Amino acid sequence: MNERDSEAAAAMFSKRGHEIVDHESQADVLIFNTCSVRDQAERKAVGKIGFMKKLKKERPELIIGVMGCMAQNRGEDLFKELPHLDFVLGTGQLHRLPDIVDSIHADQRAQVALLDPGSEVLTGLGEHYNNSIFASIAITRGCNRYCSYCIVPYVRGREISRSIEDIAAETRELVADGTREILLLGQNVAAFGLGGDINPPPPDHSPFADLLEELCKIDGLKRLRFTSPYPSYFNDKLIRTITAQPKICRSIHLPLQSGSDRILKAMNRHYTAAQYLEIIDKIRAAAPDVAFSTDIIVGFPGETDEDFAATRELMNRVGYDMAYIFRYSPRQGTVAAKLSDDISQEIKEERNQILLKDLEERTAAANRKLIGSVQEVLVEGVSKRNTERWSGKSTTAKTVIFEPAPDTAVGDLVKVRINRVSAVSLFGELVR
Ligand code: SF4
Repeated sequence: MNERDSEAAAAMFSKRGHEIVDHESQADVLIFNTCSVRDQAERKAVGKIGFMKKLKKERPELIIGVMGCMAQNRGEDLFKELPHLDFVLGTGQLHRLPDIVDSIHADQRAQVALLDPGSEVLTGLGEHYNNSIFASIAITRGCNRYCSYCIVPYVRGREISRSIEDIAAETRELVADGTREILLLGQNVAAFGLGGDINPPPPDHSPFADLLEELCKIDGLKRLRFTSPYPSYFNDKLIRTITAQPKICRSIHLPLQSGSDRILKAMNRHYTAAQYLEIIDKIRAAAPDVAFSTDIIVGFPGETDEDFAATRELMNRVGYDMAYIFRYSPRQGTVAAKLSDDISQEIKEERNQILLKDLEERTAAANRKLIGSVQEVLVEGVSKRNTERWSGKSTTAKTVIFEPAPDTAVGDLVKVRINRVSAVSLFGELVR
């Protein structure tokens, strides 16, 4: 989501005639787009912005601003910590970014903070800067789930959905410019269009599925992905739509967080391990070729060896192709931050390593199973490591390396027979 916001910011500036440069030494304006999801991310951002003080001393006309979740979270307090900052722009004010820079540039105004959650929060989000076969579209903003460890609802605000027409128009524009694969983004994409209702929809109601169906009709769009759906919103209608639409990629990120019901409850995650598995089984029954990925937190307050074992067992049962495994760290302002962070760093690290090792073994085994199979690959271009070969992505989001034919073009969908695999890539030859 932050990458997408950075791209939208770059596009807004570029539209006004500004130029995006590669290095801070070349810039007249430096904007730091920040994350608050972990304390470490905030500390890194503060460190990096602090480092810019020297640059500002040498060039007082340099404008330095901070946007994103940390800006929203810390607000004007950032001026105390980083007195060389010119502006702090909250998550609901992204559309005003070029204006604020222009006005500071024109008047050399003193420090400005715009932190209002904003009613025009969705304005300006359709701007794109990178002209590539891949693009991302934010379809919702904010989150209403309030998982006990998560700061997102406090810094991104209440959940708002864009309209299907608006998203379809943005998609058509991107496709006309050469985009072939689109990643739909939202904190809980499957809550799209539900009007902020915190109850999961009934089995036959899914405005998100309606959106997917609409976008699949767009000629020239070859693939659609999305991230992330909250598990209990993944209903029958959505599963039917995914199964029926070949443009929807066979890789699904379904955040689990923990395999222990007790910990899920403490996390304010509204599903049990059994319900989560039921969703996985339904998806697998309908589309056996789907590759799953997930998010896991180890060391949540009170996580016992048994809780951890339940997570490990569930992960092994699902057999994820990929997982983001985080060691719990408290975020100030969340409900979980009031609990005692009672799992030692050593135990968190140990649990993290155990899951990573399990995952590595499973991914290697899953990749080996693909030897001899034919994968449909969206061609990205010349491989970074070997210029004689080209690379692309399978529908399950794996990197596939192959030798191109003279007529192979970026953005084509080609078939590749896999004859070798590594831990992260598949290698093969074109099937004509
Ligand atoms: S669903 Fe939970 S973890 Fe995800 S953004 Fe919302 S509050 Fe955070």
